[in-house]
Amino acid sequence: MNNETTHRYEKILRELLDDLRSAMNQPVDESRPVQVDGTMGRVSRGDAMQVQQLALEMKRRREGRIQAVEAALERIRLGTYGFCVRCENPIDQGRLEVLPDVVLCVRCASNPKR
Ligand SMILES: [Zn+2]
Repeated sequence: MNNETTHRYEKILRELLDDLRSAMNQPVDESRPVQVDGTMGRVSRGDAMQVQQLALEMKRRREGRIQAVEAALERIRLGTYGFCVRCENPIDQGRLEVLPDVVLCVRCASNPKR
């Protein structure tokens, strides 16, 4: 992967990181009890709790994604970005385009237990 390409992915990753971090700033209050009031209309308490669970799950996933993107930026610094962490072959650029923080090539990703 040449410098120009690496810089392009670095930019993509930084933008992704910014997006993820600003999304994290929309707080999910875990301590607050679920309240069902007029604003929720016909949504039941169970539904409201499910919505809260979903929000927490999304937050967890976002945190994981932030770590993955930070790790990808670190790999750019180290010069190992774009290579599969398992087999060390270059990762297909089309794959990086869709998942810039991916660490496995298609082949390794489809053989998780090898
Ligand atoms: Zn691989």
